[in-house]
Amino acid sequence: MYKIAVIPGDGIGKEVMEATLHVLEASNLEFDYTFADAGDETKEKTGVALPEETLDIVKKSQACLFGAAGESAADVIVKLRRELDLYANIRPVKSYKGTKCLFEDVDFVIVRENTEGLYIGREEYTDDGATAVRIITRKASERICRFAFEYAKTTQRNRVTGVHKANVLKKTDGIFKETFYKVAEDYADVETEDFYVDATAMYLVTMPLHFDVVVTTNLYGDILSDEGAGLVGGLGLIPSANIGDKQGLFEPVHGSAPDIAGKGIANPSAMILSAVMMLEYLGENDEARKLEKALTQVLSDGKVVTGDLGGSASTMEMASEVRAKFEGS
Ligand code: ATP
Ligand code: MG
Repeated sequence: MYKIAVIPGDGIGKEVMEATLHVLEASNLEFDYTFADAGDETKEKTGVALPEETLDIVKKSQACLFGAAGESAADVIVKLRRELDLYANIRPVKSYKGTKCLFEDVDFVIVRENTEGLYIGREEYTDDGATAVRIITRKASERICRFAFEYAKTTQRNRVTGVHKANVLKKTDGIFKETFYKVAEDYADVETEDFYVDATAMYLVTMPLHFDVVVTTNLYGDILSDEGAGLVGGLGLIPSANIGDKQGLFEPVHGSAPDIAGKGIANPSAMILSAVMMLEYLGENDEARKLEKALTQVLSDGKVVTGDLGGSASTMEMASEVRAKFEGS
């Protein structure tokens, strides 16, 4: 029995969450859900976007499924990341048949350091402009690199690419690169290489099939993740994970999409794939593969899919189709 915190949040977050829980009911596993509030509606009601009680519920759970928060998204998710020390941000970049991708057969994962780098927000004005501080520590670099290699091992991926700009940023990125290779020594059967971030930006487009696991610092990871999303196309399809030593939080990359909220037409795929990532995190790889396969079949059949995928199914109709395939697998 897994203890799971569920934060549906705002807008289509609620709809894709309901759809995903409906699909998960067909699993062989048992989940003990605790529902918690966060986001704009919560802020309207209680004055805070992320109540202490919600934080508490997440802390007491093994994993958290998160839908979306509207305007308050940054407050909610940034605070959750900090409070729970969710240091690894993971974005799979995978092309599914039946969807509009720039390339077929793309299948890699970007592992981004989530706690330091240029995003610590330490900026100050100077006489003629401004300065930002970028922090790279051996500790956080080691932690994220080890995470990437462990992730490669548990998900049967064979190559890890470290991405940096150590030729220019000799000290900060120098430490990241050095740490990457030090950690790599413990994973002799994983192929290891490093690329400069600018070259990587090009290679992701010129040879996307080359990549398997990419590990990098905060800002580079943020940019490369969105480039990856563009490669396979469609906000409604892209999941993400924020992982720490104690918890994992799984959420679609899209937001609350106020323009389509309440209509029951949101694509549930990104949330379902976030649940796939949660199953992987819980060590339930077989169940994760089954669920992903069920979704893949529905996408490639292309019959019972939502409007953004060229179909006319509702969120729940598509989810029920995935559930039926999942149940029969
Ligand atoms: P937020 O402020 O909460 O991020 P947003 O207006 O930025 O909301 P997003 O959810 O980030 O909206 O998505 C941008 C647009 O992409 C939406 O307006 C919607 O049209 C489309 N979109 C996003 N997610 C989905 C989905 N799951 N299914 C269908 N369309 C989607
Ligand atoms: Mg948005």
